[in-house]
Amino acid sequence: MTAKYEKLIPRFLGYVKENTRSDEDSTTVPSSNRETVFLKQLETELTDLGLDNIRIHPVNSYLIAELPSNLDYEVPVLGLISHIDTADFNSENIKPKIVENYDGKSIIPLDDKGEYTLDPKVFPSLNNYEGQTLITTSGDTLLGSDDKSGVSEIITAMEYFLAHPEIKHGKIVIGLGADEEIGTGADKFDVKDFGADFAYTVDGGPVGQLEYETFSAASLKVHITGKDVHPGSAKDIMINALGIANDFQNALPADEVPEKTSGRQGFFHLLSLNGTVDSADMSYIIRDFERNGLENRKNKINQIVKSLNDKYGDGIVKIDMNDQYYNMIDVIKDHMDVVEIAENAMKNLDIEPDEAPVRGGTDGSRISFMGLPTPNLFAGGENMHGRYEYVAEESMEKAVDVILEIVKLNNERKK
Ligand SMILES: [Zn+2]
Repeated sequence: MTAKYEKLIPRFLGYVKENTRSDEDSTTVPSSNRETVFLKQLETELTDLGLDNIRIHPVNSYLIAELPSNLDYEVPVLGLISHIDTADFNSENIKPKIVENYDGKSIIPLDDKGEYTLDPKVFPSLNNYEGQTLITTSGDTLLGSDDKSGVSEIITAMEYFLAHPEIKHGKIVIGLGADEEIGTGADKFDVKDFGADFAYTVDGGPVGQLEYETFSAASLKVHITGKDVHPGSAKDIMINALGIANDFQNALPADEVPEKTSGRQGFFHLLSLNGTVDSADMSYIIRDFERNGLENRKNKINQIVKSLNDKYGDGIVKIDMNDQYYNMIDVIKDHMDVVEIAENAMKNLDIEPDEAPVRGGTDGSRISFMGLPTPNLFAGGENMHGRYEYVAEESMEKAVDVILEIVKLNNERKK
């Protein structure tokens, strides 16, 4: 294939082999030392490339670097953001596999035994990749295209500008962060220090995705304290924490779960349930596109807690419920020019923008609410967060193309 960006794919293949899984149970920043190690590796790479003002932010651990403007007039400073951590799935010893010239129809075996496959009947998106080169997992890990595709694409775009000083561009700042997958990465993002006037996360899915509407989100931890006594003499004494956990879950609307909702519908999602008679812990995420919809869902949780505590005793059910991010359209609607540049960049490259609201969140949701409008651009990956994750090399090249085109269009926005 034509290697317009020679180092893009080797760079990506190198990155995915580094284990950078974040750790939800950790309270450090970043949440895992694996992430720190990788950020330092990237810091060295950016230094070798010749970017400016490279630093790892002492509070939020973003690796930040700048490409100075080579224009003789001022344009808005572009920020490009992606995350280096991978989702909650095996990330040890990732062995990416390459399928060249895929026919768009065949079943792709992942592991040696053929236990796991990419089957177009199960994953119809495969039909879109006829003639392309796919990068897949070996069946036992995720790939980490989310979001090492974005990291590779941003760094490759910077490398391209550095190798082509004749191409004009304004100042660009890049931010590579940790802990996006555990929802805390952007908590302490420092908009002022970052110094961009507008930004994009490069963390979306297939070619064309342009996202500026996200869920509004909250997390919920439930702790239930039971009372364990001998079952033979338990009458009116035993409080079975697992039974109450069951009541809690059953008090939620049965149809408002991820597997039964789509489009603009929200949900309650039970992520984990651990316990004994003595105590039980549950972990949920709560999602809705509307702010008052999210509030209604949180009120519902509070009502359930109240009724269970009324029934079983005060303090039996305790919760810790926190807002995570809000639908970024509330901010973006006043900055639609940022969306339009991305739309126009894609159209100039014959890419049809797909602007469906994302049933998830991005670090851009948080960052937009901090005052920096940050829609999400596609990074190319499919089937994120598991063993069926894959990405086409061609998609990754197009993501770099879009970044370059956005920079070009921004040159016309003289300040
Ligand atoms: Zn991501």
